[in-house]
Amino acid sequence: MSHDRPVAAVTGAGDGIGWATATALARSGHAVCLIDIDATKAAERAGELGDGHLGLGCDVTNEADVKGVFAKIGALFGRLDVLVNNAGIGSPHLPTTAQTLESFEKVLSIHLGGSFLCAREAHPLLKAGGHGAIVNISSIAGITGLPRRNAYGAAKAGIAMMTKSLACEWAADGIRVNAIAPGFVATALVKKLEADGFVDAPRLRRRIPMGRLADPAEIAEAIQFLASRAASYITGTVLSVDGGWAAFGDAGDASSAD
Ligand code: NAD
Repeated sequence: MSHDRPVAAVTGAGDGIGWATATALARSGHAVCLIDIDATKAAERAGELGDGHLGLGCDVTNEADVKGVFAKIGALFGRLDVLVNNAGIGSPHLPTTAQTLESFEKVLSIHLGGSFLCAREAHPLLKAGGHGAIVNISSIAGITGLPRRNAYGAAKAGIAMMTKSLACEWAADGIRVNAIAPGFVATALVKKLEADGFVDAPRLRRRIPMGRLADPAEIAEAIQFLASRAASYITGTVLSVDGGWAAFGDAGDASSAD
């Protein structure tokens, strides 16, 4: 593995926003470590990017898995410049009275615990380079209240706050820590919510000032910006990339989309 190129690790890189981000980072000259609970998909996706990229199977909630992945990145590449904490799942969308503690803890564990573990294990490598960047993935669900999405909203709000506390703690180590708060993005996760009847797509589009869902590549562009030297004085911020969702405070529809 080349040690000349900057190295980026992206969790949940097998699909959706993570895959779009891995693609964008590879295009901008990074060697990309694609980390996913689905090891086969991670390896296939790395193959699609070409030589010099690496697919690694890892459950971000499993401490031994996470330690193993960053040890391997250190051994193979000898450096890490960018970490994107993207792996995640949706929440069950049930009324709170029907939610189980098990599913609540699972959502928190993947989003919040996984981001914590990966940041902690990536820290020595990011610090060694002197200019590391972490981009976490929060959500409009971490900024505004979405009914029935207790665990997901709490996890995403927690990620926003952990972003700020890590940014302050690790600024002295040359590591910038920022987050993106996407609105609704047309990924498999959202398409499944729509297929399962949890999302009314036309109604959703009308709630978005820009009248449409984001393409995963649009989220990847914003992640790439925060990870890049172009954002060299930005740390501790949570950037909304939501077509205006969180800015809208009026009654009724925000757009006339159908
Ligand atoms: P996705 O389902 O398309 O992809 C998620 C990837 O994460 C999958 O490849 C999956 O295998 C992997 N993954 C799941 N659990 C994992 C684990 N424990 N360890 C490692 N990998 C795991 O999802 P997406 O829509 O691209 O979402 C990516 C991130 O963006 C998530 O954190 C999600 O909460 C956030 N987000 C998505 C939207 C949206 O509208 N899609 C909006 C706001 C925030």
